[in-house]
Amino acid sequence: MNEVLGLADPNTLARVVGVICFAVGAWLGSWFPDIDRIAVLRLRHRSTVTHGCAAPALTFVAARATGSEWAGWVAAGFAAGVGLHLAFDLFPGKWRGFALVDVPRLGRCTKAVSVVWLFANVFMCTGLAVWTVPAPNIVSFTACLAVVGALYLYGVLKKREHFAAGPLLTLLSLGADAL
Ligand SMILES: [Zn+2]
Repeated sequence: MNEVLGLADPNTLARVVGVICFAVGAWLGSWFPDIDRIAVLRLRHRSTVTHGCAAPALTFVAARATGSEWAGWVAAGFAAGVGLHLAFDLFPGKWRGFALVDVPRLGRCTKAVSVVWLFANVFMCTGLAVWTVPAPNIVSFTACLAVVGALYLYGVLKKREHFAAGPLLTLLSLGADAL
């Protein structure tokens, strides 16, 4: 069976494990920004601390420091997941209250600043994911895209988004730009 699937090839097996690591990272990244709701962190919801590319960038640096390829896959997935989350946050029902990003000590931003902040950070997160995914070949890259697509569908179903195409189009155009 392994021969049929090509899993006997160590490179193929490594890529399968890599995509699984990417999926774990992407799943974690897709909910990570909303840890700002946890009271002990003393952040307001939609804080720029968690709704930005800082955590994915730190994760990438930490992955690099470990020198592990698996950590690199997790970090790339994490950046993609955070990017997906921010792409959804870019399309709120109404730009009011929690929809606006919050800068600690400075307070809520205007709609224009929130849009620019989220858009710029979706771009940086997708760029980080595309540039850092280890040893991409067309099959593993497509598998990673499928993971992001599945999380996107899950987001649409969970949020019952009216502007469901918005986050996807934003991600696709920015992801293609980063390629
Ligand atoms: Zn959020």
